Amino acid sequence: MTFLPRTTDLLGELIAQPTVSASSNLTLMSLLADRLDSAGAQVHLWTDDTGSKANLFATIGPDTDGGIVLSGHSDVVPVTDQDWSSDPFQMVERDGKLFGRGTCDMKGFIAAATAMAPHYAALNPTRPIHFAFTYDEEVGCFGAQALAKSLKGREIRPSVCIVGEPTMMRIIEGHKGCYEYSTHFTGLEGHGSGPDLGVNAAEYAARYVARLLELKDALRARAPEGSRFEPPWTTINTGALVSGHAHNVIPGKARVDWEMRPVQKSDADFVKEDLHRLCTHSLIPQMQAVFPEAGIVTEVIGEVDGLQPVTDNEAREILQELTGANGADLVAFGTEAGIFQGLGMNVAVCGPGSIEQAHKPDEYVSLDQLSQCLGLLEGLSAKLV
Ligand SMILES: [Zn+2]
Repeated sequence: MTFLPRTTDLLGELIAQPTVSASSNLTLMSLLADRLDSAGAQVHLWTDDTGSKANLFATIGPDTDGGIVLSGHSDVVPVTDQDWSSDPFQMVERDGKLFGRGTCDMKGFIAAATAMAPHYAALNPTRPIHFAFTYDEEVGCFGAQALAKSLKGREIRPSVCIVGEPTMMRIIEGHKGCYEYSTHFTGLEGHGSGPDLGVNAAEYAARYVARLLELKDALRARAPEGSRFEPPWTTINTGALVSGHAHNVIPGKARVDWEMRPVQKSDADFVKEDLHRLCTHSLIPQMQAVFPEAGIVTEVIGEVDGLQPVTDNEAREILQELTGANGADLVAFGTEAGIFQGLGMNVAVCGPGSIEQAHKPDEYVSLDQLSQCLGLLEGLSAKLV
């Protein structure tokens, strides 16, 4: 069998596993583990604390540093309230396109990488090739964060990582991070006629948001030289501000939902340190002077690092050589790439299908895109021997 039919057969099996982020991915992962194991890979399944999700990490080749990682997430977004032309978990082919939830985001890449495993094993590679398949990407990259810990703990140090998110096989060398928070304010309710007797959570939330606005402006000046991001600086957005019941009641609770999209990690640290100072030195002491139990707690919804474009990037260079592309682009969506970059790897994003189709009804990947991806993965052989 050539690589394409092997890939589409496997993709059909992967699509039939409805691994939405809320569900277990164990059946899917053991299916992939079996394939990789029978190809001769060393396979590890590392489960999370609940035991219902696993990361898969497999290696073909020697047990040495400096390998190449092919990375993808196993979870898919739900199909709730989406109008599909056919069963989203039953892959169908129409007009050279394979339809199903996860076909482009991103089981197509996982199937292609796994289908290549026997080929890589037959090369007897001198440079290891790794397969890193994660859980919970769609809900905050928690699987990749756990995988990063596992790799660190086991001193496994690959040097190059290709993240196969759908880019229409374009090479992506950067994207912003995405940090999301809910900041909860606990004050003391009271009657509007006696403001000094209560702690007005809404007013403290407003002061916090005012600071977010100041930081939002300050971040413009911190944009790195020659930044190609759009906009070039780290952004902040206040997405929700929730508090209060009535005109004459001091609200005891408030919540601010906000996010920032850092172009560099130092911006995220700058914002977090500034807000921490504001809360611990100013807002909280004022609140507690009236009501000792008052306070501000920031809940981290997710902190996904961006992929910072860097001058020397072997992942980008390999992909350029194999695809013949000259440049590399930036994208607006987030991936697990920044987490691998944080481990010291050279990382680029390149995979089959379009982000336009991801998360939508009638998601598909074209056979042409899968073929291009397989061509690239076959070309990678030259970098392994
Ligand atoms: Zn994805």
